[in-house]
Amino acid sequence: MNSKKKRLTILLPAGRLPLPVMAKAHELAQRFGLEVYLSTAQNMRLMGLDDAQLEQARAELAPLGVEFKGPGKFPIPQVCIGSRDCSAGVQDPEELSRRLLAHFQGRGPFKPKVKIAISGCPLCCPGVKTTDIGVMGSKQGYDIYVGGKGGANPVVGRRIARGAPADQVISTIEALIAYHDRKTPKKQRMVRLLAEPDFPFAEV
Ligand code: SF4
Repeated sequence: MNSKKKRLTILLPAGRLPLPVMAKAHELAQRFGLEVYLSTAQNMRLMGLDDAQLEQARAELAPLGVEFKGPGKFPIPQVCIGSRDCSAGVQDPEELSRRLLAHFQGRGPFKPKVKIAISGCPLCCPGVKTTDIGVMGSKQGYDIYVGGKGGANPVVGRRIARGAPADQVISTIEALIAYHDRKTPKKQRMVRLLAEPDFPFAEV
């Protein structure tokens, strides 16, 4: 039997933590002596589970409607609080994130390793310009960046749209995800596709 401790990552769209999920996670953590980690991707991770506890935690959390991290899932956007609660915010990233998730609901599987970030203003707190698909709020709408990445050798993404309305953001992301899927055998970052001759968007 594998005795190595496991982890369970609960996906939290837009970093929102529903109170029933928080209460259940708290109760599980107390019962099983777990650590609770809020990840840089805005998800919540329960750490220190054995195999039986992992299955039990999944079984008790699933009825609350939570989704767990796993292969093939649509990349939940990393967002800031935006105009809802930031004095600099001019757009609401949570609202756009919700529309995106609804648009891609039930589709997939999606190939890794595409990440998405949405900011509520040009200060780009969620790392919009160093994410595979970055959506930057401005007074005019949204600017869209593609091919950014962080890590040891960070790259600033290429801007492919300015002042776009939400509908255009969604259709552009759909086109980018479809292109990535077509061009990706297993997994890759968007930055590797920017030099392709048929890349569907020019720099603006
Ligand atoms: S990106 Fe702008 S709106 Fe979002 S948290 Fe930073 S300053 Fe506020």
